[in-house]
Amino acid sequence: MTVSVPSPLCAASTPSGQQPDTDGLSVWPASARSVPDGDVTVGGVSLAEVADRFGTPVYVLDEAEVRGRCRAYRAAFPEADVVYAAKAFLCRAVAHWAEEEGLGLDVCSAGELELAVTTGFPPERIVMHGNAKSPADLRAAVRLGVGRIVVDSASEIARLAAIVAPGERQSVMVRVVPGIAAGGHAAVRTGTEDQKFGLSITDGSAQHAIAKILGQPHLELVGLHCHIGSQISSARPYVAAVRRLVGLMARVREQHGVVLGQLDIGGGHAIAYRPGEESLDAAVLASRVHAELADGCARNALPVPRLTLEPGRAVIGPAGVAVYRVLSVKRTGGRTFVAVDGGMSDNPRPALYGVRYAPRLIGRRPTAGPAVVTVVGRHCEAGDVLADAVALPADVRPGDLLAVPAAGAYHLSMASAYNLVGRPPVIAVRDGSARVLVRRESLDDMRRRDVGI
Ligand code: PLP
Repeated sequence: MTVSVPSPLCAASTPSGQQPDTDGLSVWPASARSVPDGDVTVGGVSLAEVADRFGTPVYVLDEAEVRGRCRAYRAAFPEADVVYAAKAFLCRAVAHWAEEEGLGLDVCSAGELELAVTTGFPPERIVMHGNAKSPADLRAAVRLGVGRIVVDSASEIARLAAIVAPGERQSVMVRVVPGIAAGGHAAVRTGTEDQKFGLSITDGSAQHAIAKILGQPHLELVGLHCHIGSQISSARPYVAAVRRLVGLMARVREQHGVVLGQLDIGGGHAIAYRPGEESLDAAVLASRVHAELADGCARNALPVPRLTLEPGRAVIGPAGVAVYRVLSVKRTGGRTFVAVDGGMSDNPRPALYGVRYAPRLIGRRPTAGPAVVTVVGRHCEAGDVLADAVALPADVRPGDLLAVPAAGAYHLSMASAYNLVGRPPVIAVRDGSARVLVRRESLDDMRRRDVGI
């Protein structure tokens, strides 16, 4: 079984790729260091100082970790297009880092697209997705010159073709359901027939969409796409997906005489949220996928298509740390609830998927041994639990700081306005200095949106 995306930053890997966990920082950014006074530094910056300077809750993003992960993917897949899935987390700086590191970008809306393009991201390196793209999404994609649009329904085909200017052609791929169950939770398994994404090979809707696109002079079908799920820790389902999609490419050639030049296998690579959890090794994935692609194409006498992959979580997740301040500690009903000043509005993942985290007391040295506690948020919802049954020092008290590692993906990008708490800021750390990437959402921001009585 495989562990950890190989990063040039993770110099302390064991031969198996698993990180030694001598100081409990194995799922933190590689730059994280514990300091004798109980603090932790990331990117050379004290998290306690970040909390004091910028307030809490606060999200810290290690720029070198993000860049290192981009580079590790490019090294593992030197001949593929590595496309960062912006849904994991996007802001101008992240778009800029991905661009500088040579990645493409996967966007799902006109909003993500406009932000990227106005930051200077080359539109030709952008892939647009979405099971229900709005007319505004499609118009923005065509207007801004997005490289590839992934068609996810038959009704989208004519709508898209009608937007393309006379004499122009838009490159598209078809999102195919390969019929493969993989992924860490039912809500993120997207390779099976019973969910909303993609077009089925089994019932022929993928083949129908392919024929329809080939009949549209304004659209150029460049390849097939699939995304089978998220938090997948083994290369095996990707190999199975490649086999099915190459089989479909062979049928497209037989039926239409068209050889498709691109194959996009989506993202979904698992990361470890707690020490000891598995992650997907990009180098192992690369060798297994390339082997299957070479074999499958040779079997079907097809040229090997250009590969695209779309990691989101594995690029940004391990680079983020959320820092909260403890507001209350309550012992009731035989449990100890440690309530912090954020919660499901900045991190809905535990409530959505039952994900488990490993929070850590930072900023002071504990004076007591560990106790089992439940870390909860401040929201008016009993399910607002950030980390159930975790060990924290028994002397944890109001005013303490708790840091949650592996917080870079699908926290703030899924954040809500619940209870009008306001979304936390994002602070980049690098070489001992910190800077604001996204400011805290203020009461004034919320007031300004609310324009009627
Ligand atoms: N590509 C597509 C089409 C997706 O839907 C997603 C996630 O939902 C991703 C890529 C990124 O997945 P992950 O962040 O798990 O790598």
